[in-house]
Amino acid sequence: GASVTTEDLVAWIHAFRDAVQQHKDELTRLDSEIGDADHGSNMARGLEAVVAKLDPAPSSPTDLFKTVGMTLVSTVGGASGPLYGTLFLRMGPALADADPVDAAALGVALRAGVEGVIARGKAEVGDKTMIDALSPALEAWDSAAEGGATPADAARAAAEAAARGRDATEPLVARKGRASYLGERSAGHLDPGAASATLLLEALRDALAA
Ligand code: ADP
Ligand code: MG
Ligand code: MG
Repeated sequence: GASVTTEDLVAWIHAFRDAVQQHKDELTRLDSEIGDADHGSNMARGLEAVVAKLDPAPSSPTDLFKTVGMTLVSTVGGASGPLYGTLFLRMGPALADADPVDAAALGVALRAGVEGVIARGKAEVGDKTMIDALSPALEAWDSAAEGGATPADAARAAAEAAARGRDATEPLVARKGRASYLGERSAGHLDPGAASATLLLEALRDALAA
């Protein structure tokens, strides 16, 4: 359909938790190569705490994103917790209490979220971070939505763009976060945060396709 309900967005968060659990060891392995081997466990712990807060279900998309963001900030140590937390904390107010939301409104929220991550982490595309997946996903979402795509179609385009952005991090030298301490030795590995951000967009695609 053309509109996304609170229930759809709760399903997104559950799907993200499931995907992170499923890929937990892989995320940690990626982080062992260029970081401190905790990205899978950081994200899994945070999302378990998030899911525990979703019963009873939030009453609106805005409430949902606020709960998700606050829980991630308070339960995920490391760089990724405040950054993913910021993504959701900025998405909520950007929805301006829309319920249900359409593709354009969700695009506005995603943009506010990604801009919040950029403001907080100061990473640009090409710095080998989650931004390398999130930024192209947002661009793909917007061009799909401008062309009249449904949220499900926009999410499919965004997930594909995120995966391409993740894959493109492999040859890059990290310029932000722990991986940047490795300098040139960070090249030749996928960025763990770009991998988890791709799971986030793939979870949205799957939740909206259902
Ligand atoms: P930590 O590095 O503190 O152990 P995690 O391992 O959970 O935290 O997360 C690492 C991921 O966080 C990196 O792979 C990268 O994608 C992301 N990241 C780190 N610093 C930044 C930043 N300044 N801006 C955006 N993303 C960042
Ligand atoms: Mg780490
Ligand atoms: Mg750490």
